[in-house]
Amino acid sequence: MSKPFLRSKTALPVAAAGVAALVLACAAPDTSYRGAVDRIRDAGLAGERAFTFLERITSVGPRLTGSPQAAAAVDLTRDLMEELGLERVHTEPVEVERWVRGDVAEAEVMAAGARSAVPLEVCALGGSVGTPVRGLTAPVVEVRSLEDVSSLGAAVKGKIVFFNRPMDRRNPDPFAAYGGAADQRVSGASTAARHGAVAVLVRSLTFRRDRYPHTGMLRYEPGVLRIPAAAVSTAGADRLSEILIEERDVEISLRMDCRSDGRVLSANVAGELTGSELGREIVLVGGHLDSWDLGVGAHDDAAGCAAAIEAVALLRDLGLRPRRTVRAVLFMDEEFGGTGGRAYAASPERKGERHIVAAESDRGGFAPVGLAVGGSRGQALERVSRYASLFRPLGVAFIVPGGGGVDVGPLVERGAVPASVLLNAQTYFDVHHSALDVVDRVHPRELEIQAVILAALAYILAQEGI
Ligand SMILES: [Zn+2]
Repeated sequence: MSKPFLRSKTALPVAAAGVAALVLACAAPDTSYRGAVDRIRDAGLAGERAFTFLERITSVGPRLTGSPQAAAAVDLTRDLMEELGLERVHTEPVEVERWVRGDVAEAEVMAAGARSAVPLEVCALGGSVGTPVRGLTAPVVEVRSLEDVSSLGAAVKGKIVFFNRPMDRRNPDPFAAYGGAADQRVSGASTAARHGAVAVLVRSLTFRRDRYPHTGMLRYEPGVLRIPAAAVSTAGADRLSEILIEERDVEISLRMDCRSDGRVLSANVAGELTGSELGREIVLVGGHLDSWDLGVGAHDDAAGCAAAIEAVALLRDLGLRPRRTVRAVLFMDEEFGGTGGRAYAASPERKGERHIVAAESDRGGFAPVGLAVGGSRGQALERVSRYASLFRPLGVAFIVPGGGGVDVGPLVERGAVPASVLLNAQTYFDVHHSALDVVDRVHPRELEIQAVILAALAYILAQEGI
């Protein structure tokens, strides 16, 4: 995930849990799908197949948008869907920007009279321009918000602006805490540049205090000078903040060789179980195939892709062909702005199709705790809530309004009902966009149960419609 504060999924309506509880209490329990859900559960939980998909997807390495590894992941997942017997397996073109991280990302702090410089763990933010080859050195000013920069105005001219507002630990919803701090990363560079700053350092977006920098997308405003932007580890940010209190004339040297590399053609990947009666009505399950490049994007979002493929494969293996189509879509370029999601919705291939539900999995591979179902009139939520007793043994303790994400946003704008499996994601931001997002951090059984729920949800909605 990349653009948190713009995403509906980040603002989980906590208060809405009460509403959903009411819906649950009022709805008559419906067990007509018990046989199908039991079979999906038995087949899924007997193995760990979704995890083997995740291993295959991550075997190509990090899948930065436009990279050779992302292209390899397109071929690999298309082949995988074909092997599994999915139908109408195909790719759809997406033109994407390519950005290259380069080999160098270094920063160190030097104070007047200090004997040695203090190194900071940094990484370039996605999309950042590099520094001059020899780096740049400038005094540093610490701020907590974009507004602080505007208040300081000309005082940041010629300086490196250090954004150091942590994620709010008091917020029990980690996605909301992330969304509350991410404006510094996304908009910090242009805000600082407008007042003459020469670079920005942004505190990494994680609750943990450690030495891993966390990357993520930034957005340069048109017409504003593009200045280098780096994330600094939380431990490094705390150290820098102490130095700024204790020392005087503190300067930072920053050197990065990241750069943009033009546009390339990439692709979304899709495969389905075509509906027996209403094949042009579609329940979509999806994740994003691209990832950041410091780890291998195991949680973000090979897990979501693996769960989507497994959901459709389970239905196919069990002969559970629903009336409407269930389609797995692996979107390209979620992290750099969602061009894959937009290209999918606008593709000529959508002619004559109607997406009734768009379920996006982009919250990691953790154990499920709930379901979020959107839609303006609430009937989708009501329908799913009727089957709460089937989902409860799988860990679904609540069903709330919400769901969706960047990739399915354009489909939701066109009338699809968004949905998501909600997960116990308290540790997600430990690894998110960092070198820690590796295969070992995903538990095969937690991922499999997510896929089982997704399969059951998609089956019921593809049978019933909205
Ligand atoms: Zn993601």
